Amino acid sequence: MFNSVSPSTAFKRVTLTCTIDCRLLYLLFLFLFLLADSTLYGATWRAGFAKHVITPAEPTWMAGYASRNRPAEGKIGELYAKAMVLEDVNKQRFVLVTLDLISVPHTLRDYLENYVHDQFDLPPASLLINCSHTHCGPEIRTTRWSEDANHSDRLTLARKYVAILKTSLAAVIDSATGRLEPVSLVFCHSRCGFAMNRRTPRGSGFINFPNPEGPVDHDVPVLKFTAADGTIKGIIFGYACHNTTLGIYKFSGDYAGVAQKQLENTYADAIALFVLGCGADINPYPRGTVALAEIHGTTLATSVQAALQTTPTILNEPLDLSYEKVKLKYSPAPSKEELITRSRSSNSYESLHAERLLKQLDQQGHLLTEYNAPVQVIRFGKQLTWIALPGETCVDYSLRLKAELENHKDLGRLWVSGYSNDVFAYLPSRRVLLEGGYEGGGAMKYFTTVLQHGPFASDIEQRIIGKVNQLLQRSSQ
Ligand SMILES: [Zn+2]
Repeated sequence: MFNSVSPSTAFKRVTLTCTIDCRLLYLLFLFLFLLADSTLYGATWRAGFAKHVITPAEPTWMAGYASRNRPAEGKIGELYAKAMVLEDVNKQRFVLVTLDLISVPHTLRDYLENYVHDQFDLPPASLLINCSHTHCGPEIRTTRWSEDANHSDRLTLARKYVAILKTSLAAVIDSATGRLEPVSLVFCHSRCGFAMNRRTPRGSGFINFPNPEGPVDHDVPVLKFTAADGTIKGIIFGYACHNTTLGIYKFSGDYAGVAQKQLENTYADAIALFVLGCGADINPYPRGTVALAEIHGTTLATSVQAALQTTPTILNEPLDLSYEKVKLKYSPAPSKEELITRSRSSNSYESLHAERLLKQLDQQGHLLTEYNAPVQVIRFGKQLTWIALPGETCVDYSLRLKAELENHKDLGRLWVSGYSNDVFAYLPSRRVLLEGGYEGGGAMKYFTTVLQHGPFASDIEQRIIGKVNQLLQRSSQ
């Protein structure tokens, strides 16, 4: 039998079928291209950035070193509050506020938490506040515990500054929100080496001295935000190291301030935000001069640029945000008799601390037995998990979390930050707590926003890690 369809008709049909198939194929490719393009350049994320100068206009007292005996005498650079507002494909928003300041007092966190709720209907989980912990910023303690009989103007200046600061922080979040625009978002990382552990065994204790054998976390995590036209709009980067190259009487963002400025000079359309990691027991070395702060800042900025040359993880999955408080217990409180003995100590910081505790005991009938500390987890789907811990966070936390979670397939890349949301005391690991020394509990006498008698109970690490795991498990469900 001959085929009833002539060769020319069959050819036409094949051509016609091919034309239809090709069109479908073309449309499919176009769809996939647009999908990929929208994933890379805009449809998945919108982000906005802003920064405000928060350098005090008048010579306030400075924070960070209890031995300072006079107010600031000028500045060698500006201090900034910066904000990044990120919106995912589901219109869920995440706000990051970074501060060139010593601390994030819980009162400041409460204020901003209320502000973003009232203005933008955002829950606490949508807000992360991190401080660079510069020791060349203004004093921001506004409680009665920081009264100093010899310098009565000190508290007044701090209160006046914090009132202005609050207005600035609200304004910087407003500005960033007003600048939301489509962006692509990638994560990458590198390493940077000037951070060295500062706990050196000496005699029966530990001294603050460079210890090359001690643990460090040299990771430099980086988030890069790129607009549809290819310009870099924002860079968020981290490092785990005390921001203490300097101890001078001039305002400065120290190495973290230098790194941010250099990145903003390199990427002219970008705002760079520094997020401090778990660097409570780590210092920059060598240290002590403005030139060294410049060198460390330049080194860190260069490490960020190096990270940007690596193969990035493209982030295109929605946010999953969680934020909860965990109860941290203190060791048994000293008796009144013990406090009276301590109040007669020749060490003026110890005696003043004991006097304040005695006052607390008289006024409240008891000393603090526990503290509610915030723990936050920001998940970018299964591509990146960002854990933000409170307090002056020791490096063991980030090392442990990275070791335990790095092979968890649902968590993706890991970023562990410290100094987030409430910096109420040093947050020692169990090891550091049991070893003792400054970070283990000795520094408690210098914290006055929350007056604490001293060291935490030995289950502190277990409680923090337990809360992180709880938040991770809940977000995985
Ligand atoms: Zn510190």
